[in-house]
Amino acid sequence: VNSIDKLTEIFSRFPGIGPRQAKRFVYFLLHRQGVSEELIKAIEDLKHEVSQCDKCLRFFTKNGSPGTLCKICADPSRDGSLLMIVPRDVDLESVEKSGGYRGLYFVLGGSLPILADEPERRIRIRELKERLKAEGQHIKEIILAMNANSEGENTADFLREEIKRAAPHIKTSLLGRGLSTGAELEYADPETLKSALLNRS
Ligand SMILES: [Zn+2]
Repeated sequence: VNSIDKLTEIFSRFPGIGPRQAKRFVYFLLHRQGVSEELIKAIEDLKHEVSQCDKCLRFFTKNGSPGTLCKICADPSRDGSLLMIVPRDVDLESVEKSGGYRGLYFVLGGSLPILADEPERRIRIRELKERLKAEGQHIKEIILAMNANSEGENTADFLREEIKRAAPHIKTSLLGRGLSTGAELEYADPETLKSALLNRS
């Protein structure tokens, strides 16, 4: 494989990017040497400055701190009896921005399409069970904050069963009533998120 095709193939693995668009990116970089260099540096920086939180599994900027926990997980004033499961890092950021939530998080890493096989390869179910094993006795409620579509519903159903089996004393609730059908958490505005949080069931 030549280097143009190789980079095209890499770009086309990005979400929402097709092969034609990927090739346009490659030619753009060939024409714009400066952008190429910026990109190389930014990717290097990302590798050195960002790490994955041991607890919630989100990616966070270390800012020179040696810790393995993100700011939220390391904050003792957060309510450890509440755990919210979100599909992706961006969803956590949206909920956090709404300011209406003071519990902890777990980033699932995606969602589960209906009839998907090998769920452990699509979402972090193994990691979730480990977390429940480690601190399940402190958790009173798990809020399933999924997108308001069929994939989100399917994921919530799956998680409810798994949580029931792993930690039957934990109550599960669904953040979804306040969100309109089809809504993605990432794009929900702070007020909507706050009311969805209050009206969880
Ligand atoms: Zn964390």
